[in-house]
Amino acid sequence: DVDPLNLLGIEVAAGEGARIIARAPGLPDDLFEHDGQLTKREIRALTLSALAPRRGELLWDIGAGAGSVGIEWMLADPSLEAVGIEERPERAARARRNAQALGVPGLAIVEGRAPQALAGLPVPDVVFIGGGAGEPGVMDAAIAALKPGGRLVVNAVTLETEALLIARHAAQGGELVRLSVARAAPVGGLTGWRPAMPVTQWSWAK
Ligand code: SAH
Repeated sequence: DVDPLNLLGIEVAAGEGARIIARAPGLPDDLFEHDGQLTKREIRALTLSALAPRRGELLWDIGAGAGSVGIEWMLADPSLEAVGIEERPERAARARRNAQALGVPGLAIVEGRAPQALAGLPVPDVVFIGGGAGEPGVMDAAIAALKPGGRLVVNAVTLETEALLIARHAAQGGELVRLSVARAAPVGGLTGWRPAMPVTQWSWAK
């Protein structure tokens, strides 16, 4: 009754409550326990594409929130490693629970505030910043930590952080992309597009 070729997906947990989860990134939001601070499905899928995991790489997920980006990074290949950095203790605990529930208990979650909490972590191949990019020193610390050729992806939803990414793109190059998604939702008895806040994404290689 197990799927020997893993055609259906990745089986997490066995027996009662077993779930088969899809192999492509952009898992449904409701697979993650979250408090609203979650990179939503479509944006997460595009973010994993930008992060572009290659065998054996280590990711730092700064502002890990519910842990979804680090989790989907780990799910992409068993050789991948990730460290999530999250300053809010209840969110750090939630990210650990999500990692356990989705079958990647090896995701390390460091409870602390970037940039201070980054000191002493193993050198990353790739850094994602999903929170804290606007705080002094966070982007500089990420860039300093990256290996030569390492990749940085930063998502911004506020104008203030977006302005920083526009300035970085002008000074350092890389790619700047604006992502927007709308979902059909009830409007009175009919249906309309409910837009999510657009995300500005800067990707850069060291
Ligand atoms: N990508 C996450 C959501 C990130 S929400 C997911 O999909 O689950 C942004 C998170 O960044 C919040 O949880 C916030 O507490 C955290 N954060 C903001 N500034 C931070 C900093 N300087 N250091 C660590 N975490 C930070």
